[in-house]
Amino acid sequence: MDYQILTIFPEIFDSFLSHGIIRRAVADEIITVSITNIRDFAKGRHQETDDRPYGGGAGMVMKPEPLTDAIQAAKSRQPSAKKILLSPQGRPFQQQTARGLARENGLIFICGRYEGVDERVCQAYVDEEISIGDYILTGGEPAVMVIIDAVTRLLPGALGCEDSAEKDSFSDSRLEHGHYTRPPVFEGKPVPEVLLSGNHAVIEAWRFEEALLRTLVRRPDLLGNRTISKAERETLKRWCRLIEQLVAE
Ligand code: SAM
Repeated sequence: MDYQILTIFPEIFDSFLSHGIIRRAVADEIITVSITNIRDFAKGRHQETDDRPYGGGAGMVMKPEPLTDAIQAAKSRQPSAKKILLSPQGRPFQQQTARGLARENGLIFICGRYEGVDERVCQAYVDEEISIGDYILTGGEPAVMVIIDAVTRLLPGALGCEDSAEKDSFSDSRLEHGHYTRPPVFEGKPVPEVLLSGNHAVIEAWRFEEALLRTLVRRPDLLGNRTISKAERETLKRWCRLIEQLVAE
């Protein structure tokens, strides 16, 4: 996967790209990341990338010329890449969005700053606008890191253990079970005994119920948005019977 990032703050990405799974994915050539400073495309003595908004009001707006020149240059390097503008007004980013993006050949990320990008750029030069949540960041760079991180771990070979992405929360519209490691007792709290049993079938069954219970309690919306499997239905019915017994007068 080839990522291109267009930003006025390229150094922000230095640490992100030199740690953990992302660093390894670069070293193993699973991903390439090229970062373009939009300012390099700005003309004039001060190489300005922003200007005052027409109509007045607070803040500055990213000028269209340097931005579109940077987009064109990125596009000429990778004509099939999808051009994504980070924007709080975009499509909400979810695991499903990450899965879709992981199937692309290349992604060009355009990081907004100030009050955002001149609307004519959004309309003519962008394939999709993506938001990482209903809040306002000062720039698109943290959002790009979130997206690259989530997409990269879905790419073949990026994770040490291939099946861990499949079992992660949201991969099947459910949350994952809790995790425990040594010591067996921490601050008086023991690890659930079943996990020490060595019986893999029993452990799997426990994890399945644990994941279902978590999803039901914390994110029932996830269950409501998909078909409930036979095993889940049976477990939910068994819990219903238990609850009915408990509340019976
Ligand atoms: N004035 C804009 C608005 O109200 O929609 C917000 C601009 S924000 C201060 C500056 C830049 O940060 C945006 O152009 C975008 O690139 C990025 N950004 C802010 N919040 C974001 C979010 N939730 N998701 C993705 N990008 C975001």
